Amino acid sequence: MALDLRDYVASIQDFPEKGVTFRDISPLMGDGEAYHQATDEIIKFARDKGVEMIVGPEARGFIVGCPVAYALGVGFAPARKKGKLPRETVKATYDLEYGESALYLQKDAIKPGQKVLVTDDLLATGGTIAATIRLVEQLGGIVVGTAFLIELKDLNGREKIKDYDMLRLMEY
Ligand code: 5GP
Repeated sequence: MALDLRDYVASIQDFPEKGVTFRDISPLMGDGEAYHQATDEIIKFARDKGVEMIVGPEARGFIVGCPVAYALGVGFAPARKKGKLPRETVKATYDLEYGESALYLQKDAIKPGQKVLVTDDLLATGGTIAATIRLVEQLGGIVVGTAFLIELKDLNGREKIKDYDMLRLMEY
């Protein structure tokens, strides 16, 4: 029988700051059966879309995307913060509560026309995933879907990525 994946998410009050409830996916990753079930759902979504490449932002986007890439026999490219990628990159900035951040993708990570799935553990305001999508599109990739373990509904990140098909396994 299928597990209820919500049983494998820990909710931590006032982390990383007061007033915030952090949804911790470590119990899900730490349980072979739960991680397998979650990954299988994303694999099915990706397979149906004919995904040829997966891109995820550091660091938990890797945890979600890499096993899917392995299962499908496609590649994975990491979207990383400043100073982490050794060769030529493209850059996309996004707003934080205070200030701005940026993600980078190596220029040869995506071939033009490639069908790409973008993965992360959690959708909050959508800034991170929207920047990741822009990186893929700068390189001519076609984003055919986004996949998350968790959507935080109240933050309405969905609005920022409404033009893309989205899979999310849980909502809070
Ligand atoms: P957004 O850019 O959508 O506002 O924030 C999503 C990004 O922040 C994701 O990369 C995610 O890993 C991280 N994040 C924000 N809040 C949480 C949370 O409560 N739990 C987890 N696991 N990640 C979070």
